[in-house]
Amino acid sequence: GKGKWNGFDERDMLLSYNALKVLEARYLLKNPDTLRYVETPQMMFRRVANFLAKVDTSYGKSEEEVKKIADKFYEIMSSLKFLPNTPTLMNSGTRLGVLSACFVLPVRDSMTTPEGEGIYDTLRAMALVHQQGGGTGFDFSELRPKGDVVASTAGVASGPISFMKIFDVSTDVVKQGGKRRGANMGIMHVWHPDVNDFIKAKTGQLKDAQLQNFNISVGIYDYFMKAVERDEEVPLVNPRKTRVPGSNWDSYMVKARGYMDEEYIQELILKELEEKDAVWLDESSVITLDEAMVIAEKEGAVTSKVNARVIFDEIVKGAWDSGDPGIVFIDEINRRHPINYIGKIQATNPCAEEPLLPWESCNLGSVNLEKFVIEKEGKAIIDWDSLADTIRYAVRMLDNVIDANRYPLKQIEEATKKTRKVGLGVMGFSRLLVRLGIPYDSVDALYVSYNLAKFVYYQAFHASIELAKEKGSFPAYDPVLYRDIFDTARSFNELLEVAKLKGEVSPSVKRLMERAESLDFSQLKGERMIKGLRNSTVMSIAPTGTISIISGTSSGIEPLFALAFIRNVAVGKFMEVDPLFLEYLKRYEMDDPEVVSKIAETGSVAENVFIPRTIRNVFRTAHEVAPEYHLLHQASWQQWNDSGVSKTINLKSEETPETVSKIYMMAWRLGVKGITVYRDKSKSQQVIYFGIKK
Ligand code: ADP
Repeated sequence: GKGKWNGFDERDMLLSYNALKVLEARYLLKNPDTLRYVETPQMMFRRVANFLAKVDTSYGKSEEEVKKIADKFYEIMSSLKFLPNTPTLMNSGTRLGVLSACFVLPVRDSMTTPEGEGIYDTLRAMALVHQQGGGTGFDFSELRPKGDVVASTAGVASGPISFMKIFDVSTDVVKQGGKRRGANMGIMHVWHPDVNDFIKAKTGQLKDAQLQNFNISVGIYDYFMKAVERDEEVPLVNPRKTRVPGSNWDSYMVKARGYMDEEYIQELILKELEEKDAVWLDESSVITLDEAMVIAEKEGAVTSKVNARVIFDEIVKGAWDSGDPGIVFIDEINRRHPINYIGKIQATNPCAEEPLLPWESCNLGSVNLEKFVIEKEGKAIIDWDSLADTIRYAVRMLDNVIDANRYPLKQIEEATKKTRKVGLGVMGFSRLLVRLGIPYDSVDALYVSYNLAKFVYYQAFHASIELAKEKGSFPAYDPVLYRDIFDTARSFNELLEVAKLKGEVSPSVKRLMERAESLDFSQLKGERMIKGLRNSTVMSIAPTGTISIISGTSSGIEPLFALAFIRNVAVGKFMEVDPLFLEYLKRYEMDDPEVVSKIAETGSVAENVFIPRTIRNVFRTAHEVAPEYHLLHQASWQQWNDSGVSKTINLKSEETPETVSKIYMMAWRLGVKGITVYRDKSKSQQVIYFGIKK
């Protein structure tokens, strides 16, 4: 940087105390023998920037050009405008070569398979991914249910959940480069006969006891939600018993639901018939659920029928009780998967922002939206040009990660390089709102969400098109079959209507977002057709758990958590105050220690009548925001996004299961790809408590 003085860099001044603590504990490189630090934060950013820019050498860039790119990468990171995900920061240029956070691994109903996709093959793959800092997601639905027969041993199958426990123990044992423990997503589709046990695997007495390294989610389909609405029965199906082409009942369903190009389906079926020596039982590839049922019953694959509402209520009860299980909406995921002609997505990564095909990995990175609020003529506005420029280099950097990555397994490398998924996300969204003076729980804020998402997506997609022109499209790109997600984005008004939310966007906010609102996507589509596309997905809203701390901003698109709180650490109690909040208090001459410590008792000011109304409105914390607003922000960011959104719908401790039920139903209608609720204090281990009064 410019301000170098005795090894001190002015860029270091941007880092908060907490940021330095985190960097020091996990990110800055140490000499393994002496354990002394061998780099400063700026050196870390340099290491990452240089390592990733070097990729461009192999695309014919000169040394000078590569240096320019490296400088730009350094610039956007050290100014805290953009940060890549943790593995990229930690591992770039080191012995550990995995730079991605998200992986999905297949689990076939066999101990081991030639393709390396059996249960114990996957266990091994998981350990290798965890060792280097990645998170893994699995769909366990292909495994035969508990009590089913095992032909080779004439024994009894122990079922998917017992295998999940082994994955869980392995996760405990394998620490990631000695730095953190791995994280998993376990998914079971709602038609599996063991689904009831699965739903209860982490609730009631098993809460805080079992599968502690797993988030669990039920894979839900439209047919199921319709059956819930109509109070109808749905079948439970043994995946081992169905002879339908495709690996199981599920791929049968996907064909039945008309996701794929019909010619392509025919081709697939023919191939499968050939390979598996199976019999296709229906003339047409596109069949209805009822028809599918008849066939499955004929095959003896339907083990029982259950009222959909009974299952749904159990899911709701579990989520209310402990936060698990969440839901992923398999149909919505596949409908809006831009390359659904490649295959069907069955699972997501641990925090569900990345639905991925088997063996795919994805690397993430997030722009810090707070940094793009500037003052003009005394008014806070968004610096669109700077944001667009940052996104352009961010996407280039994420794309380079794919080439710089050292993959733990060849299947992962192949799958990842075939589709080249990257996930650009955001952080600091709620702090951007504060700086703009807009309350999170307002129609204005939702409008900002919706249009910011549109802008970020537009720029990221555009960047990927330009990269394709320069470096070529992702190998699985097909200009005709590729599905543009902007063709299926719901309008802003549609979202409000579904949620039955009334209210007008204020004219000043309309003006503020004009630049994003008026973007033309049809032109972009034309460009894609001509120039190609470098990455099959470009966006993904990650939780940004640690990189938001390094950036000193709010995480992802979440509202603020607590304005002031007491942190208990080994050496004593410390009061922490949100610096933005403190700024506001100063403005009103309310920054006295007594006032602040009083606020720290609850962490919020919503009920505090002595605090000015402006402050009370703008500094609404997660539990004060009504669940509908949480959900609508998620739905807004989902519309302009080719992957998923990680979001927790935070609920007050006293909320009822009915609220959860309502939110889950609404989530489906709003077209989000997954949903997680967390009711305050519903788990014994909670990292942050709000305030000191419990
Ligand atoms: P960060 O801020 O550290 O870059 P995020 O909180 O945004 O990471 O999480 C992004 C993704 O990284 C998660 O969805 C998950 O796939 C992966 N991940 C996060 N924490 C862990 C962990 N402890 N172990 C493995 N993977 C993790």
